[in-house]
This record gives sequence, structure tokens and C-alpha cells, in this order.
Amino acid sequence: MIIVGLTGGIGSGKTTIGKYFESYGIPIYIADKEAKALMNRSKVIKRKLIQIFGESAYKNGRLNRPYLASKIFNNKSLLAEMNAIVHPKVASHFKRWLKRQDAPYIIKEAAIIFENNLEYQYDYIITVITDEDLRIERVMQRDDVTAEKVQSIIRNQLPDKEKIEKSDFVIENNDLETSAKQAFKIHQEILEKSKQS
Ligand code: ATP
Repeated sequence: MIIVGLTGGIGSGKTTIGKYFESYGIPIYIADKEAKALMNRSKVIKRKLIQIFGESAYKNGRLNRPYLASKIFNNKSLLAEMNAIVHPKVASHFKRWLKRQDAPYIIKEAAIIFENNLEYQYDYIITVITDEDLRIERVMQRDDVTAEKVQSIIRNQLPDKEKIEKSDFVIENNDLETSAKQAFKIHQEILEKSKQS
């Protein structure tokens, strides 16, 4: 099974582009979404996160995301500790999910691939890029946050230039018409590759 990574900075349009591929019948695994679900569901993760972050890590039994985000933002060692708890669980969940898929290839949407040198987990990587001002505008609208907040997250992420250099495919998502065309072309190319392998 060919595994295709779909990455890009905050608000670049990963999930939006993923939906195009879904409409072509390609199964999509959204790593961040599954990680959040596991953080709510898994008793082991819950216990370990409370050990590190205290009881405030959960509120009424649900993950207290704003609290956790405020703790890990700008604290690399806490972020690493949290990842060490959550990532192995997501990895095994993904493995089980993968076994159930029947398609020429699958897409795994993950915000972080290059940052942690995880390219080796993918056969191909697609990076979604969008002009920074549009990303800021879109995330401000989507999440009701300030431009400064989005800018500070962007500054914390690997610059697009470096992601592009390391990618097999790039989709520019300034407008939906262009990105849809690019996505379909890439889909056909990967289908061709899947027939050859
Ligand atoms: P994150 O990294 O924050 O999870 P993402 O990369 O998955 O974000 P999306 O959630 O797909 O990005 O897109 C961000 C916002 O921009 C969403 O509200 C989405 O509907 C909107 N959006 C995405 N692409 C476009 C586009 N080409 N034109 C207009 N709006 C768009």
C-alpha cells in the first residue's frame, strides 16, 4: 500500500485538499484528529498526561486543549514529553487502520513530517502552500483568533521553502479552482505509480 503524506503549515488547507482526494475514493487518515480522539479515549494517555500536566489537563473528563496548548507552546521539553506519550499510540492506531484499507493508495494528513524527520514513513509527500496573508485571514475566521497568534504559530513552523524542497508534490491553495486541478493531476500521477509498483 502506497502511503502519501499531506502536510503544510497552519491554515494552508490540508484538510480542504484532503477532501478532494476523499472525493476520488482515497482513504484519508488525519493524524491530528486521531491524536485528539485518542487523548480523550485512552485511559493510559489520560493517566500519563495528568501525571505531567496535572488534573487541569482534563476538564469534565474531556481534554482541556487550551490549557495544554498554553503549556506546550514555547516549551520544547514538555511538548516532547507529550509527543512521547501520544505519538506511539497514534502510530499503532494508524497501523491498524491501514490494514483495513483497500485502495491504490492512502493519504495521511500530518502537520508535522519534515520537522521530526519522518519522511521515511511515506512513499510520497504532498505539501500544501498558501500565501501567508490568506492563511492568517482564514485561520482568524475559522478559529476566532488574532493575527498575532497565527503569526506566532507560523514562525514556530518550518518555512514553506524548506518543505517544498523536500516534497514530491506541491499544491498551491490560494484559490480552490487551481488547487482542485493540481490535486486531481497528482491523484492521477500517484495512481499511475501505484500500477507500476
Ligand atoms: P490546520 O493546520 O490549522 O489544521 P489546514 O491546513 O488543515 O489547517 P484547512 O482547515 O483546510 O487548513 O483550511 C483553513 C481554513 O481556510 C478553513 O476554514 C478552510 O475552509 C479555508 N480554506 C481552505 N482553502 C481555501 C481556499 N482555497 N479558499 C478559501 N478558503 C479556504
